[in-house]
Amino acid sequence: MYRIFFVGLNWKMNGDKKSLGDLITTLNKANLHEETDVVCAAPAVYLDFVRSNLRARIGVAAQNCYKVAKGAFTGEISPAMIKDCDVEWVILGHSERRHVFGESDELIGQKVAHALESDLGVIACIGEKLEEREAGTTEEVVYAQTQAIADNVKDWRNVVLAYEPVWAIGTGKTASPEQVQEVHEKLREWIRANVSEAVGDNIRIIYGGSVTGANCKELAFRTRRGRLPGGRSLPQARVC
Ligand code: PGA
Repeated sequence: MYRIFFVGLNWKMNGDKKSLGDLITTLNKANLHEETDVVCAAPAVYLDFVRSNLRARIGVAAQNCYKVAKGAFTGEISPAMIKDCDVEWVILGHSERRHVFGESDELIGQKVAHALESDLGVIACIGEKLEEREAGTTEEVVYAQTQAIADNVKDWRNVVLAYEPVWAIGTGKTASPEQVQEVHEKLREWIRANVSEAVGDNIRIIYGGSVTGANCKELAFRTRRGRLPGGRSLPQARVC
């Protein structure tokens, strides 16, 4: 099964026009493998700036959105607004949204449904906390989170699933390629059984959590299965 390699960059609440402009200049010059999707998630106030200046070859994502198109929801942004800035993607269910801002599986599911209906691609994040991993409930947790997302997806072609263990995010503690592969495989099996074989085969599942220039290659190669058409070599993960 062939799946286009996907590299996401989440800038979180960092940067300003100067530093993001410098990043954009670097990315606009970067030599990207043609078989790799690259998507940068920018802070909401800079989405228009980033989309206007970054070359079209590289996708842009919002880091969150609300579950309806417009209305009296102070501080929120809608998929319609994101689309209006020509931005193609949104991250939903990021662990910081879940655990710092208290977003529930239910709310995340509603956001996923509305974002997909609005024709945005969704990078849907799931992942267990350290105490859940230590208690042996990793599978239970990620299956429940995936179920809440799956209940709200009709067409999976615009969904990328991001397995991001909470204990690896921003901690400098990376999951090993084996740990990642184990969860990815189980997730794929779960999706095959609970959604469909085709979705299980085709969905892109990525990893996030303390990825660096030093460890990205190993994570990328060891956690990816499949071959490029014609037996060409796998793309290098050049940007983390
Ligand atoms: P980190 O975050 O690379 O800072 O650990 C990853 C993520 O939140 O997606």
